Amino acid sequence: MTGPPVRSLWLREAMAGGFEPAPPLEGSAAADVCIVGGGYTGLWTALRLKELEPSLDVTIVEADICGGGASGRNGGFVLSWWAKFETLKKVVGAEEAARLAHASADAVAAIGSFCKEHGIDADYRHDGWIWAAVNRAQVDSWRSVQGALDHAGEHPFVELTPDQVAARTGSPVHVGGVFEPSGATVQPAALAFGLRRVARERGIRIHERSPMTSLESAGAATIVRTPQGSVRAGCVILAMNAWAVRFHEIRRWILVVGSDIAATDPIPDRLTGIGWTDGSCISDSRLLVHYYRTTADGRIAFGKGGGAIALRATLAGPFEGASRRAATVEAAFRFTYPMLADVPITSSWTGPIDRPRTGLPVFGALKKHPRVLYGVGYSGNGVGPSYVGGRILASLALERSDEWSTCGLVDAHVKTFPPQPLRFVGGHVVRRAIEQTERRQDEGRRPGRIASRLIRLAPAGLVPVRR
Ligand SMILES: Cc1cc2nc3c(=O)[nH]c(=O)nc-3n(C[C@H](O)[C@H](O)[C@H](O)COP(=O)(O)OP(=O)(O)OC[C@H]3O[C@@H](n4cnc5c(N)ncnc54)[C@H](O)[C@@H]3O)c2cc1C
Repeated sequence: MTGPPVRSLWLREAMAGGFEPAPPLEGSAAADVCIVGGGYTGLWTALRLKELEPSLDVTIVEADICGGGASGRNGGFVLSWWAKFETLKKVVGAEEAARLAHASADAVAAIGSFCKEHGIDADYRHDGWIWAAVNRAQVDSWRSVQGALDHAGEHPFVELTPDQVAARTGSPVHVGGVFEPSGATVQPAALAFGLRRVARERGIRIHERSPMTSLESAGAATIVRTPQGSVRAGCVILAMNAWAVRFHEIRRWILVVGSDIAATDPIPDRLTGIGWTDGSCISDSRLLVHYYRTTADGRIAFGKGGGAIALRATLAGPFEGASRRAATVEAAFRFTYPMLADVPITSSWTGPIDRPRTGLPVFGALKKHPRVLYGVGYSGNGVGPSYVGGRILASLALERSDEWSTCGLVDAHVKTFPPQPLRFVGGHVVRRAIEQTERRQDEGRRPGRIASRLIRLAPAGLVPVRR
């Protein structure tokens, strides 16, 4: 028997005032563009399409509710691509990397403006991001990116002294870091619900509890089928995040890995006590990244990457509901904030991350279906970049030739992962090596030689992998 889904704290908060799902798709419908997936990517793309061509008929079919996927479960870090500049440069070249990174930083501000303009109360706080070190081995993790940025004449990071980073994060565990002022935080589900509301106001048809069950070519059109209906569309956009691995050609280069978050009850006085009083968000420099932020009502939400590894093309089980790694996430929180040892963790949740080797999303069309587009691979940095993704996908859908449709992330080359079950087994071996190494580093010990080599096989996260 399956009960109602266990939702993230964010979704529970956003639904608390009453939430009515949009009607499921029933019968045969038609649209100019059918978007599969109602997360940020699907919603930003739909909004952009309507902005460019107001008369366009746009339908979204969503398996769950809009924001029910990663968009309503994430850490709410709205980040630019500056930290990924080195990889971005390798993938798209120096000039295009700078352009895209600037666009991603502009997107952070644009999301805040959009919320303001449309009365979306998503607790948007534009207080920056701290990329920190919590042990000696992590210090200077940002150095090579900074070198590439200096070379390009870009200076988005501000160096912090150990005292400054400890003061700003509220914990002396932090021994180094850089500050990136363009970062912001949001209440993720409130943002998704806000976009959903504006999309409906703009005439975008949304069908929730309407999973796409199949995709068929029908002459120049494509038919998206759901359990009770179908949409015949000139263009289909797969905005399905990790769930896009049901398509073999995407599955080859996307590794799905879980990320888990735990949250405290509101503790505003304790936050004041440790001096962590603004809305800045913090990541440490692990591959299995620890990421943490406060909320407007004074909670701490603390996340850890590198969770469950997907074996099958259909995602469920470990990627849904409460975190199965809640104890591990709690231990990471206690390690980082030992002075809050008595503060209980009161909720946890999980979700899938879509990780290509580069750590950057790719946009394109399915080989056999040139009018079926996709945008996938944000790698745990999609809250801000999905705004850019919406622009890219809308331009591709409208067959425009502009800076978005021709950008370097369209049809970007990505190396494939080994097939299953080798990938699953190999993924566990590499993850164990990373865990062992990162534990040793926390203890001030040197990593093992074999583990260090294995780590090079990991896909890039927020922190570049030294290959
Ligand atoms: C725990 C966690 C923490 C994260 N933290 C951060 C963070 O702090 N900052 C950041 O930038 N990024 C973060 N991310 C990543 C970020 O959430 C995603 O990159 C972003 O939400 C991607 O948006 P999306 O619309 O592409 O995907 P989603 O929001 O996942 O949307 C895809 C949608 O497709 C739907 N779908 C799937 N299959 C079907 C189907 N067959 N038919 C119809 N619909 C379907 C799903 O239900 C889902 O709603 C995190 C992710 C997780 C899981």
